[in-house]
Amino acid sequence: MLPIERQRQIRMLIQTKKTLKISELSEQFNVSEMTIYRDIKPLVEEGLISKTFGGISLVEKNEQNLSNQSQCVYCHKPNNPKMAYRLILPDDKVETACCAHCGLLRHRQLGEEVLQAICHDFFMNTTISAPLTWYVMDTTLNIACCQPQVLTFENREHAEKFVNGFGGEIYGLQDAKEVVYQKMQGPTGCCSKHN
Ligand SMILES: [Zn+2]
Ligand SMILES: [Zn+2]
Repeated sequence: MLPIERQRQIRMLIQTKKTLKISELSEQFNVSEMTIYRDIKPLVEEGLISKTFGGISLVEKNEQNLSNQSQCVYCHKPNNPKMAYRLILPDDKVETACCAHCGLLRHRQLGEEVLQAICHDFFMNTTISAPLTWYVMDTTLNIACCQPQVLTFENREHAEKFVNGFGGEIYGLQDAKEVVYQKMQGPTGCCSKHN
């Protein structure tokens, strides 16, 4: 089978299944996982799908889909699609948080239930899978919607440059979830919702 044909089929599969495992695709098409990664590369660049740990998932671009998700699931502020942090749950359920701050807190609450989470690169506004994101906190620049603010970067180098300029700390997903939670327990937390 030609790569273009596999890509066509992967496109169809991801529309119906929303998430796919690389290992399953490799088995199904009887090619190596390396080949599958090559096949999906253009689809990732196109923004159709995003990479997850060991798999891919559909990026729902449909803004209508966002409009019934117009309120933050955590703090109930109106959502800004450019900063939104989205949680993909079983049975095609999607929750949208206004920013990474609320997204991380909600992600921590739901734990294992979250199949996948997506946020946006602060500079490029590209979609990033949450486990591959770098989270920057404690910067001197105040731009995000909720405090303590969390900015998200796809590229570690960009995050480092940002921190060089504006201060702050860089965290991976697991640490970021804990750090933002701990901060909310302190006297500076702005939010009344604790779990
Ligand atoms: Zn919120
Ligand atoms: Zn927010």
